[in-house]
Amino acid sequence: MAQESTPLPIILPDAAWRARFRRSLRRWYARCARDLPWRRSRDPYRVWVSEIMLQQTQVATVEPYFKRFLRAFPTVRALARAREASVLRLWEGLGYYRRARQMHQAARQIVEQHGGRFPRDCQSVRTLPGVGRYTAGAILSIAFDARQPILEANTIRLFCRLLAYDGSPQAHEGQALLWAMAECVLPRQEVGTFNQALMELGSEVCRGRGPACDECPVARLCEARRLGLETQIPRPKQKPTFEYRREAAVLLRRPGRVLLVRRAEGGRWAGLWDFPRYRLDAEHEERRREELVEKLRRQTGLAVELGTCLKTIRHGVTRYRITLTCYEARRVSGRLKRRASEPMRWVRPAELDDYPLSTTGRKLCRLV
Ligand code: SF4
Repeated sequence: MAQESTPLPIILPDAAWRARFRRSLRRWYARCARDLPWRRSRDPYRVWVSEIMLQQTQVATVEPYFKRFLRAFPTVRALARAREASVLRLWEGLGYYRRARQMHQAARQIVEQHGGRFPRDCQSVRTLPGVGRYTAGAILSIAFDARQPILEANTIRLFCRLLAYDGSPQAHEGQALLWAMAECVLPRQEVGTFNQALMELGSEVCRGRGPACDECPVARLCEARRLGLETQIPRPKQKPTFEYRREAAVLLRRPGRVLLVRRAEGGRWAGLWDFPRYRLDAEHEERRREELVEKLRRQTGLAVELGTCLKTIRHGVTRYRITLTCYEARRVSGRLKRRASEPMRWVRPAELDDYPLSTTGRKLCRLV
């Protein structure tokens, strides 16, 4: 790689390297690109939906959600008109529900401020809730061929290896270098296709779980490969430390109905509905049952008789590893409190299907 003037400690590739890289990448992508549903159109709305869904989520998981979502909300106006509960219901199981709520708010913003047309300038796109630098670059380049760089998990790994950068990709210096790399490799034309090819190469060949260098179209241009460092770069992230906790959910019944609570703003699963659910601190089962009855009374205003344990589910939410025990309970006395921040509703079992629930909440429905 020849030297180019740059303030960064690692030297960015020169023009000859960039030309070879683009040529090799384009040829490979023309042969190997996967046929994914969001690649069949350059409609910015479809690109946007796919980019938001693909954040932190695998392609195979996203595909059926994308198709269902587009069937229900084929345009930005249709999404803006929808009730938030309907949007969340379609997002159910995909996780990171804030993405869906922000998309819904952004759709309303597009209708109010841009007449329902997806904005084409980066500044306006960046004001949409949930749209950061990467997402804006992806939408604008793929939908409008704007010369915008992208940097996400796959391209971060790819660029680190191409440059043999073994610093932290998340640190300020690493981010500056990688964004500079993303900008410097951009072609003048067909930027969207090129950006997709970069992501595809990172995802399918320069993989996190082991790069397939023998199949790589840019192996001759790769510094990590030359140095034999391809499996050591990028540096592995620090393993997250898990926190273990015990929680309980309650199927609280009155004749023909069961109680649901809407999750409060700012907390886990905000906007979804759920069975009353609490963290339990007591060590022993008997004390835990007392703690649960007391927490339920404080939240709902109802005195209950706690029945048997129906099911135990182990699941993870972000850094928490949770053992969730589900109990049956019957209302004995009291009136349901009115809480604006966490509305509660007695719901018929047949209506549960209409409410957006967390994955564990939906599993508990089967017990109803
Ligand atoms: Fe990644 Fe290997 Fe290709 Fe380098 S040669 S870009 S490490 S797959």
